[in-house]
Amino acid sequence: MSKTVYSVVVPVYNEELVIEESYKRIKSVMDSTNESYEIIFVNDGSKDRTRSKAEQICNRDKNVKLINFSRNFGHQAAITAGMKLSSGDAVIVIDADLQDPPEIMIEMIKKWKEGYDVVYGKRVKREGESFFKKFTAKAFYRLLKFMTNIDIPVDAGDFRLIDRKVCNVLSSLPERNRYIRGLVSWAGFKQTAVEFIRQERFAGESKYPLKKMIKLAIDGITSFSYKPLTFASLVGGIATLVGIISTIVIFLKNIISDEEILSLGFILAVNIAMFGLILGWIGIIGEYIGRIMDESRGRPLYIIESILNYKEIPEEYGK
Ligand code: UDP
Ligand code: MG
Repeated sequence: MSKTVYSVVVPVYNEELVIEESYKRIKSVMDSTNESYEIIFVNDGSKDRTRSKAEQICNRDKNVKLINFSRNFGHQAAITAGMKLSSGDAVIVIDADLQDPPEIMIEMIKKWKEGYDVVYGKRVKREGESFFKKFTAKAFYRLLKFMTNIDIPVDAGDFRLIDRKVCNVLSSLPERNRYIRGLVSWAGFKQTAVEFIRQERFAGESKYPLKKMIKLAIDGITSFSYKPLTFASLVGGIATLVGIISTIVIFLKNIISDEEILSLGFILAVNIAMFGLILGWIGIIGEYIGRIMDESRGRPLYIIESILNYKEIPEEYGK
């Protein structure tokens, strides 16, 4: 029995306009390796014709597998499922929209053969994306770096190759609100980067609206840092100190000058600011608590509705 060397995991959500082209490009690159491979499309609850298109591809090409979720569970869940249900010695995760050029996979494979266990794609330039997206992405990666003690590479998305042993480590992690790029760094092993220019989307629109971007960003921070909570104590401490000192100063001044030092407006403004700060921080604590809830409920990360072209039913079915 021949062993699969490469698994290419492609999450797809409403990608009817790109899936065919994506398949062709990935196939031609993988064919050029002259080694065995599988392409795994993870259909993350698409509402358009992505599923039927993927099924057509599966019917023509038995190297292509399909995992259908019962609804949209999100990009990170889709990647997780693809990894779990993969069998290659190396697993490559790539977006469907061709923003990650499939040809770069060859460079990743080269590095893997040199002995690296993780080869991540580092975006040196992003084309065809809005200023807002580029700015927020850049700012977020740097904020995350500042927040965490783990060395999560900046400007790297989920486009990467990981060795089977790293894939097994990731698959064994039960956490639900996953920030996979962080988990890969956390896992360690021998890592390196290949640089690439992030292309314009082949067709269609981004499936990452601001809401999903914020969710991913908060997942990234809460999964790897307690600093937002620590800052609360720090700011609280400073505010207390300022409060005590100004009380003493005002008290003394009042005794000496016998006149009202602080206006009511000022006191109100300080109060509102403090109130806002406290509520804001309760919100941050809420983000952490919400995630603790998710973990303690222990619901699965995703639910698989059906699979296609798998020779045997993988034992991991819906975990
Ligand atoms: N995606 C997904 N589930 C989602 C959102 C996105 O599987 O809920 C997939 C999407 O089909 C694409 C990849 O994740 O293959 C990256 O999404 P997108 O290109 O829309 O994000 P962007 O490049 O704009 O950050
Ligand atoms: Mg994209």
